[in-house]
Amino acid sequence: MKVLKFGGTSVGKPERMHAVARLITRDSERKVVVLSAVSGTTNSLIEIGDLISKADKAGANAAIDRLQESYKTFIGALYSTPEGREKGEKVVKEHFDFIRSLVGKPYTVKESKELVAEGELISTQLFITYLNEIRVNALLLSALDFMRIDEDDEPVLEYTEQKLHEAIASNPGVVIFLTQGYICRNVHNEVDNLKRGGSDYSASLIGAAIRSEEVQIWTDIDGMHNNDPRIVKNTFPIAELSFDEAAELAYFGAKILHPSSVRPAQKYSIPVRLLNTMQPEARGTLITNHTSEGMDIKAIAAKDGIIAIRIKSGRMLLAYGFLRRVFEVFERYKTPIDVITTSEVAVSLTIDNPSNLEAIVRELKDFCRVEVDKDLTIICIVGNFDLDKRGIINRVFNSLKDIPVRMISYGGSTHNISVLVVTENKNKALNALNEGLFQPAEVH
Ligand code: ASP
Ligand code: MG
Repeated sequence: MKVLKFGGTSVGKPERMHAVARLITRDSERKVVVLSAVSGTTNSLIEIGDLISKADKAGANAAIDRLQESYKTFIGALYSTPEGREKGEKVVKEHFDFIRSLVGKPYTVKESKELVAEGELISTQLFITYLNEIRVNALLLSALDFMRIDEDDEPVLEYTEQKLHEAIASNPGVVIFLTQGYICRNVHNEVDNLKRGGSDYSASLIGAAIRSEEVQIWTDIDGMHNNDPRIVKNTFPIAELSFDEAAELAYFGAKILHPSSVRPAQKYSIPVRLLNTMQPEARGTLITNHTSEGMDIKAIAAKDGIIAIRIKSGRMLLAYGFLRRVFEVFERYKTPIDVITTSEVAVSLTIDNPSNLEAIVRELKDFCRVEVDKDLTIICIVGNFDLDKRGIINRVFNSLKDIPVRMISYGGSTHNISVLVVTENKNKALNALNEGLFQPAEVH
């Protein structure tokens, strides 16, 4: 069984939903279909939540009205029968009655999670109603019944495995199992989620749980590109990537895929294919366990909002245990480190989460000198870097010859080179790297 996940823009308009219905019925194979919320809805729900939490009743109600209005137009065009429209209106009314019921009441994390889950609950109910209208054999399974996270917010795969196995086995006649991405329950059995963009993660977890033959992530771009198409001209989709390469790219900024999402599929060697709903025949990007030979440099991604922390200490010289002390500070504040470089008397590292920066710096200052540098961007160059191969670093540095580089990390893995630049220079750096590393040799 394959798992097909459709993102927000793929279900963002009634005609897009019609196209999804055509795509999932092209063959009669059994499959699991995972949907995101209609594009823009999760953002609107978060805004509504903010207004509710600020006790701005009028503002919240106005924002709810606007969102509900957009769904009224949506269902007008989604269904072609009066019965379909009536059912769709009922779905919208029920969900918006719930959303409205949150206004003016105590608003805690629990309510905020329930509120943002509405996006996926609405999109899947509207879609199953449409599938029923056009007589497609489909069943809606609630992700709240099979997706779970533990006390560390980690998905409990065994639970999903067992629950999905039961659901699929007890419905032998069903061809399409439809479900929500993103949403789950937590240890207190409350509604929760897998964080923004988490629908990809849901698809990969479901794929792993049912040992799917393939997970397909359908979006509005023809695969993962070799560089950011919003900044660089002449980018092209990468035909094949390994899981590790895809994870690096997703983590360091390629917006097409949620960074954690490849791991569950990787664990069970389930191929992940990135496909385009607007161009279903395009080959997209295939992510598998093996690294393809040939092309050495595959892609470039960039992540903004980076903070560099430079730590110097005379005591580091010929000492051991120093780095442990440094890392322990970051551990205490649950702040992951992205890139790290060291010399004998100094260590520089980067973080992207500023929430505990002050406290971290204060603690580090107890035993070393500290400098903080903000507004930086990590540019991550991903590929197949056999460490015996010559010239790769040269090509990277050559491309960046006019751009000051703050930090560089190479050799941590054989598929990543990270360079740190000030964000102001990001566009220039991405374009320079694109020219120096891909063109004109690799015009596709
Ligand atoms: N709807 C959620 C979001 O916008 C989850 C997703 O689309 O992946 O973050
Ligand atoms: Mg997404």
